[in-house]
Amino acid sequence: MNTALLSHHDCLDHVNPPGHPEQVARLRAINAVLEAEEFAYLVREDAPLATDAMIDRVHPAPHRERLEAMVPNEGWRPIDGDTFVGPATLRAARRAAGAVCRAVDMVMAGEVRNAFCAVRPPGHHAELERAMGFCYFGTVAIGALHAIHEHGLSRVAIMDFDVHHGNGTQDLLWGEPRVRFASTHQMPLYPGSGAADEVGLHGQIVNVPLPPGSSGGVFRAGMLGRVLPELDDFAPELVLISAGFDAHARDPLANLNLTEDDFAWATARLCDLADKHCGGRVVSTLEGGYDLSALASSVAAHVRVLMDRGYG
Ligand SMILES: [Zn+2]
Repeated sequence: MNTALLSHHDCLDHVNPPGHPEQVARLRAINAVLEAEEFAYLVREDAPLATDAMIDRVHPAPHRERLEAMVPNEGWRPIDGDTFVGPATLRAARRAAGAVCRAVDMVMAGEVRNAFCAVRPPGHHAELERAMGFCYFGTVAIGALHAIHEHGLSRVAIMDFDVHHGNGTQDLLWGEPRVRFASTHQMPLYPGSGAADEVGLHGQIVNVPLPPGSSGGVFRAGMLGRVLPELDDFAPELVLISAGFDAHARDPLANLNLTEDDFAWATARLCDLADKHCGGRVVSTLEGGYDLSALASSVAAHVRVLMDRGYG
């Protein structure tokens, strides 16, 4: 058993306007740090493109079709103040969703124990019919529904520790009892959702808002007090992670004070959960993280734990 790393050079071709925080350099920084000798044993695979069917499981088809109709030959078409469609944007977004689906296939087949998808754009803000917050397709939700439909699972857990609430994942899975979605996030902060009383149609959504300035201790208390018991009680057959690293103390977009150690700790606890219930099956996908060096070192800490547990 081992750990897979899925990515694709198409994810470097999605370019946002100059000065945009969701920049190509994010993935370049991650690729650079994962070139280190300690990561030589990752099972590296190019991400396939997600099919229309995979995307249309979570978004009404007109959402995808409207986005496709927007693709320019050059430059950008704005969706909102911070979300833009460029010539290569949707191809990259399809690689991101395709990476998670392929990673799910790999862990379900026992080819690897767990996987990290180093992809962009992120996905967790994309709602049913609305691209927003740098996101176009709901990557992690697409992966969850893929696991349910293609592998017959009935209990998929998603943990989102990005500093922003995963409003898109919540929206896409609001009525889905086969997925338990837990999120820790700073509140108040963009996009404004994620209050503790937002619980989904079946009580299957667990929101743990954290006040600005929270340390790793507050984050860990939220994980231990709410997230992990709720996910343990669910007894997942697969654990997905929306791994945003913008809760790092150095991130310019938010005000939490997590460190690499906190991300490693959270990764280890989610691996514990997966070890207990589902043979260690974890698929993690990149969401946010905008300080390039903090992002790279946090991803390294995260993948280091996945690799360590991949041999478990
Ligand atoms: Zn974020």
